[in-house]
Amino acid sequence: MGVVGKTVKVVGREASHVFGAVTVRYWYDSMRLFLLRGRRRCPACTSGRMFRFKEVVDGGLKDYYGCSQCEHFEPLDVEGDPEGLAALQTLAKARLASMSAVEFANAEKTFRYQSRGRWLMSAGFLIAGFGFLYADFSVWTILNLGAMSAVFFVQGLRASFRHWQFQTETFYQPGAFYRWLVIGKWWV
Ligand SMILES: [Zn+2]
Repeated sequence: MGVVGKTVKVVGREASHVFGAVTVRYWYDSMRLFLLRGRRRCPACTSGRMFRFKEVVDGGLKDYYGCSQCEHFEPLDVEGDPEGLAALQTLAKARLASMSAVEFANAEKTFRYQSRGRWLMSAGFLIAGFGFLYADFSVWTILNLGAMSAVFFVQGLRASFRHWQFQTETFYQPGAFYRWLVIGKWWV
């Protein structure tokens, strides 16, 4: 990883401190995490977070994600990069192989509870939103409740997908998310 990547990572880290308002960061992170593949955990060291950066490759700027802790990085468009994708698949396989049965079961359980918790929160905010419709609250209150519901919905969706990924060992497979959406195992 070059100087550019390092600088962007540091700037990214600083920026998240400057805009430290908890809510702003929470919203930003949760929307980015899922919708834009933002600050997810590093697949190599599992403790760092992935940040986006640009690097000059063959005279052109290319987009990458790099870890905030270790030297792991991967192309932004990983599905369009067979080499990067293969490396990630190998990494995921090695990690799965290194997990004990208990660890594996725990990971599944964590995603299951995460998913159910988020779905319930989502439903709660949705119901509250409808409730306030009748209670004559401001439009902003209702919009906020709706948005909270959407955020939790997306997080629940993500946890369910991760649960399925563990069950089927489907990591870094192009199109896996849509396949899962169609299969419809949303409630885990
Ligand atoms: Zn890392």
